[in-house]
Amino acid sequence: MSPRPPTPLVAGNWKMNTTVGEGLELARALRDALDGSGVEVELLPPFPHLVGVRGVLQGSSLLLGAQDCYAEDKGAFTGEVSPAMLAGLCDDVLLGHSERRHILGESDELIARKLLAARRHHLRVILAVGETEAERLADTTMAVVDRQLRSALEGLEGVADGELVIAYEPVWAIGTGRTATPAQAEEVCVHIVTRLDQLLGEVASSVPVLYGGSVTAGNAAELFAESHINGALVGGASLKVDAFTTIVRAAEAASSASAGSR
Ligand code: PEP
Repeated sequence: MSPRPPTPLVAGNWKMNTTVGEGLELARALRDALDGSGVEVELLPPFPHLVGVRGVLQGSSLLLGAQDCYAEDKGAFTGEVSPAMLAGLCDDVLLGHSERRHILGESDELIARKLLAARRHHLRVILAVGETEAERLADTTMAVVDRQLRSALEGLEGVADGELVIAYEPVWAIGTGRTATPAQAEEVCVHIVTRLDQLLGEVASSVPVLYGGSVTAGNAAELFAESHINGALVGGASLKVDAFTTIVRAAEAASSASAGSR
């Protein structure tokens, strides 16, 4: 059977924001606004919030993800959280976010090990890739994205429908208010789809490719109108119920429009 086309996903990366109390309140408001959405909606709160937010989301359609995990199941890795701890609690785990690559110094090699560990525990992985501003100016965007994809995905066996999401996040657009133009984002997402075909084979066509980088209520619709952008990884705007809800509604509208044209 051929893989299905990707279901759009809008995922909110809360980063290191909100106290546990504030996070639970935000999760309740988002659940009330977005339960039953026509696209996948996911919250990625900080680790201490996960158990409480799982309880809030129970019985709703919203998914729960972690912002990272370590590459080992257990042991002397003070401060780290293992995929074995997240299994059964979270649906997804975000790996390779640019803040982890560039602020916390994570290498391609470590991210590849984390991906293998997450897969062992049946967590869907949202793999973030993207170039810095200097890399874009040097015209190496596609080469950087290729290196990050290859390092994480080459040699992976038996990737099935529903096990992987890619988020294209240009580093210069994250948290800066400088969104990639829809054409810039689409160009790289098309490139990613081509590479996924080569690296993963048939299942590639079911892997959602998200855009992330200063997505707001004001620019989401034009980004989702591009045919290779299957949703968004949202940082700052995911902390605001109205803004995040507008972004999800824009994804729903784009998804119905593209279903209608098939
Ligand atoms: C992110 O954290 O992945 C992100 C894209 O942040 P922002 O939307 O704030 O740019």
